[in-house]
Amino acid sequence: MSRYEDLTPYVYAEAPLDLLNIGWLGSESAASNDGGLEMARLLQKLHELSRRPQNLMMGLHSCEICLQDRADGLGVGLEVPAGTGELWLFGRDGSAYSAPVLIEHYIVDHGYMPPEGFLRAAFEELPLPPDARSRQLSEVLLSPIASLDDRANAAITLAWWGAEAEPALVGAYCKPEEYDILYPECAQTIVSIWRRKGSANWHSLEEAPSFLADQVAAEWRQ
Ligand SMILES: [Zn+2]
Repeated sequence: MSRYEDLTPYVYAEAPLDLLNIGWLGSESAASNDGGLEMARLLQKLHELSRRPQNLMMGLHSCEICLQDRADGLGVGLEVPAGTGELWLFGRDGSAYSAPVLIEHYIVDHGYMPPEGFLRAAFEELPLPPDARSRQLSEVLLSPIASLDDRANAAITLAWWGAEAEPALVGAYCKPEEYDILYPECAQTIVSIWRRKGSANWHSLEEAPSFLADQVAAEWRQ
């Protein structure tokens, strides 16, 4: 996995909006954390996000720090943690971050501590109010010329915002061959928006294709 300094612009893969790198440690253990009170809350949030990572197609990465330890004879027999995909976090202040899924392992086992802005984003109360990012993500999701990866990432990411994202999530189907990837992501995000506000809004699905409405209903029952 590539190494990037914290808070440098994200360039590793495609993204439907600008992001900053966080926790792309590569083989260097960077900082130290004191395991403070907020740590459990941070890890819980990252764990929650890792159920729906972004850019999942980028392959499995083993922790290079653990690999190095093993090569140095420090970690004989050590199972080297690996992860795939990224966690994208958004702050109310307009900040947007990409961290590798391995960030949880870096924090727990290598003492890495993400910078302040990332922690604020992790502890944001959701949904975020509508802003330029939610509008941009909705546009990408609805765009027939955007890449399917960007559209799928937009569908997952819109879970940070609220009901104003529903029309784009419902309306995202232009080409039948794209249904398979897009509609489960849209259905999951619609349900996560409903769960957060504590009630379903079946009305928003009146114009939706039946396969989406079925998927949303299945997600809602879980
Ligand atoms: Zn490691």
